[in-house]
Amino acid sequence: YDMAALTAAAHAAGALAHWDLCHAAGALPVELDAIGADFAVGCGYKYLSGGPGAPAFAYVAARHQDGFDQPLTGWHGHAAPFAMSGTYAPGPGVARARIGTPALLSLLALEAALTAFDGVDMAEVRRKSLSLTGFFQECADSLLDGLGFASATPRDPARRGSQAALRHPEAYPLVAALTARGVIGDMRAPDLLRFGFNALYVTHADVLRAVEELRDIAVSGAHRVPEFRERPTVT
Ligand SMILES: *Cc1c(COP(=O)(O)O)cnc(C)c1O
Repeated sequence: YDMAALTAAAHAAGALAHWDLCHAAGALPVELDAIGADFAVGCGYKYLSGGPGAPAFAYVAARHQDGFDQPLTGWHGHAAPFAMSGTYAPGPGVARARIGTPALLSLLALEAALTAFDGVDMAEVRRKSLSLTGFFQECADSLLDGLGFASATPRDPARRGSQAALRHPEAYPLVAALTARGVIGDMRAPDLLRFGFNALYVTHADVLRAVEELRDIAVSGAHRVPEFRERPTVT
């Protein structure tokens, strides 16, 4: 999305712009102050690599920090937690965005994961990410031709995030069979195979191997067994 233009359009209509950065943080440069965003949230476990259950984050523009309401209150966001006052008084500024006791072991894992970004230019991360997703599309075009797949991701790099999706009527068993071979993507109903590319860790060789495995499974029918048909809640 053109975040600056959409934020400006929201403001022109008298609204605030609140961005969900789950698929942006750690994947591409995002300049919230520069585009005039009001609020943003995101999770720590996708491209930031904080691990399952990693803490999430919130952004509040400086101009809103003394006046915003935060419906999920907890003692860490209280102005005077040990006053035991019986009513909630939000802490000063952005401190009121805190909730209860943070999951410290998870925070430490996230902190360690973030050190991988030290000294890294996000423009470089974006460049490599686009190279990986573009390469995935090229590999899929040539290796999966005639096997019932269709690309569901824009070819225009400016319209891509850091993932690529394919359509196939047997999406779930194909993803399950790939996972069993160590190529981990996910499936989204009704027919999407989704692959995320973390530019800090994934190589072009990994991308080629993923598509080669997918080709091998589709050609051999290795996914057409009962164990890959049973769907868990999270696919
Ligand atoms: C992953 C994701 C979430 C979930 O965030 P949690 O921190 O796990 O609640 C929300 N929005 C989008 C767009 C996501 O991709």
